[in-house]
Amino acid sequence: MAEQQKAPQPETFKVPADADGVSCDGGGGPLGHPKVWYTFDKAGRAECTYCDRLFIRKS
Ligand SMILES: [Zn+2]
Repeated sequence: MAEQQKAPQPETFKVPADADGVSCDGGGGPLGHPKVWYTFDKAGRAECTYCDRLFIRKS
């Protein structure tokens, strides 16, 4: 019997391939967080430690 799980899916954002990094403020407002900058790892991904947003650099 299959159990359907609804895991909250973090938002994913695509950024231009020539971007050196991304900034995230959680969208601002009461749900936001201080603006922070992230750089991409070797795979071209950066994950916000505040709101779990995932930024993926286009290849
Ligand atoms: Zn964030």
